[in-house]
Amino acid sequence: MIIANWKMNGSKELIEVWLNFVSKNIKIIDGKDCIFCPPSCYIDFSKHLIEKTNQSIRLGSQELDSLLSKPLTGGITAEMLVEVGCSFVIIGHSEQRIHLNESNELLSNKLVSAIDNNLTPIYCVGETAKQKKSNQTKEVLLEQLDVIQSQIIDKCIIAYEPVWAIGTGESAEISYIEEVHSFIKEEFKNTTDFSKEISVVYGGSVNLENYKETYNSSQVDGLLIGGASLNHSTFTKIYNMS
Ligand code: PEP
Repeated sequence: MIIANWKMNGSKELIEVWLNFVSKNIKIIDGKDCIFCPPSCYIDFSKHLIEKTNQSIRLGSQELDSLLSKPLTGGITAEMLVEVGCSFVIIGHSEQRIHLNESNELLSNKLVSAIDNNLTPIYCVGETAKQKKSNQTKEVLLEQLDVIQSQIIDKCIIAYEPVWAIGTGESAEISYIEEVHSFIKEEFKNTTDFSKEISVVYGGSVNLENYKETYNSSQVDGLLIGGASLNHSTFTKIYNMS
């Protein structure tokens, strides 16, 4: 799967241009989802544009509010996201963990709420540069992964996104990505009776120079792309050529 995370970027005009280009040029194949995650206010607009194309571009939300603090002014529920056409939702992105101070309890609730409403969570985990330097990566990942209740593990996608690689232009080395992805996959194998391997996608400064090596690794099940996904031709090339 190739996921475009637009973060806090875009406008109706930019989305229309992007979706027109991508839908005309992308060659979507079975088993390789193309997932577009625009800001929440443009999801419905995007859904209508996608419906006019023959392409099965799927929609994901960057935001979901759990029932932890209900009522919640400004909140968006999983039911609402499904109604406007989402099939996926990004949960636990490091920018939200850091700037919105998201707790483990909150993230756990979001995951359950997504699953209960047939939304597939793309659950982000990753260590900071400081944690990497002090050899705490595995410990940090285990703590973040612990939030996922065992009965929903098989319905989640894990996105390994080292915080130090996000938006910095400094993607992780392939050997490091492979080591971490295999650690995550093994961890799930050891702690659950879930027989199928969990999907782990990589995110962090993926671009035209590095996507191929990353995507081609047997340990990598997809890419989560921020900055580079804003460019329609870059995103389409990465999808078609990976
Ligand atoms: C992201 O924000 O999820 C991300 C991977 O960003 P970038 O590709 O810009 O590093």
